Amino acid sequence: METEARNLNKGPSGDPEGTLRKAPPPKWQVADVIDVITETPETTTLRLALPEPTEFTSGQYYNIRIPVEGRPRPIQRAYSIASAPFPKFDVVEFGIKEMEGGLVSPVLAKQTKVGDKLEVRGPYGAFVWNEEKGGPLLLISAGSGVVPFMSMIRYARAKGLNTPMHLLFSSKSAEYVIYSQELNELEAELDWLTVTHTFTRDPEHPGSRYHRRIDKEMVAELMVESGAKLGYICGPPEMVELCEVVLVDLGMDPENVYSEKYD
Ligand SMILES: Cc1cc2nc3c(=O)[nH]c(=O)nc-3n(C[C@H](O)[C@H](O)[C@H](O)COP(=O)(O)OP(=O)(O)OC[C@H]3O[C@@H](n4cnc5c(N)ncnc54)[C@H](O)[C@@H]3O)c2cc1C
Repeated sequence: METEARNLNKGPSGDPEGTLRKAPPPKWQVADVIDVITETPETTTLRLALPEPTEFTSGQYYNIRIPVEGRPRPIQRAYSIASAPFPKFDVVEFGIKEMEGGLVSPVLAKQTKVGDKLEVRGPYGAFVWNEEKGGPLLLISAGSGVVPFMSMIRYARAKGLNTPMHLLFSSKSAEYVIYSQELNELEAELDWLTVTHTFTRDPEHPGSRYHRRIDKEMVAELMVESGAKLGYICGPPEMVELCEVVLVDLGMDPENVYSEKYD
């Protein structure tokens, strides 16, 4: 599994000064599953209570490992944190999309129950946002790529910030929109948040402004509308790579383009 978060101008680590590495390396800990919420037919929220909570920044991820039959060692995968790191970070939430035929995600998304225990290690990653980074932001996501953006939006709300954020969110159709109800409520409540949906497998749904995959024209329209100075992109590698190029072509400073590929 490749784990990559990058800022276009700073290379793969996005942390040339090594400041993120000064904290002691995280250790495996056994978390309690305290809530399991079905978000869509393929995505489940797992809420975990951590015995050794660690401060984190919105956008970071944990590794989760589980035993897999026939494998000598547990298999680990990365999962972004969906919850806000403020005001508390002793409970963390993940949004896990089942990948058919996958080793880990079907177990986490479909078989995990309240009361189960899961081995987790983190937080990791330089794909982060907080008030120090500023805005306005264009957040571009497909599928479970919305998870770290939920943490950023929830964090900004919890802190009472008003940095303009425009979320472009690609889903198959309305029933596959992760956090659908919460996003609707947040958009109604927060004047700094705009959510634009694109549905790739529903050509007509009125709840979606676009009905196709994310493309240059779409991103260009939203970049103008949002006045974004920072771009964050998260999801499948092809979508992330396309949007990195598009944002820079449209004039965004490469230094301000952050991306996380879910390989
Ligand atoms: C930083 C980071 C954060 C992430 N955050 C999230 C998140 O918040 N939510 C989320 O849902 N995911 C997230 N991911 C993705 C996640 O880590 C896993 O990659 C994903 O859940 C799939 O893992 P898996 O073990 O289920 O599938 P895998 O076992 O890795 O398989 C992946 C796919 O490949 C196919 N496959 C496997 N082996 C073969 C083979 N030999 N031939 C052909 N096909 C094969 C499987 O059928 C499956 O469809 C993140 C990834 C990264 C890097």
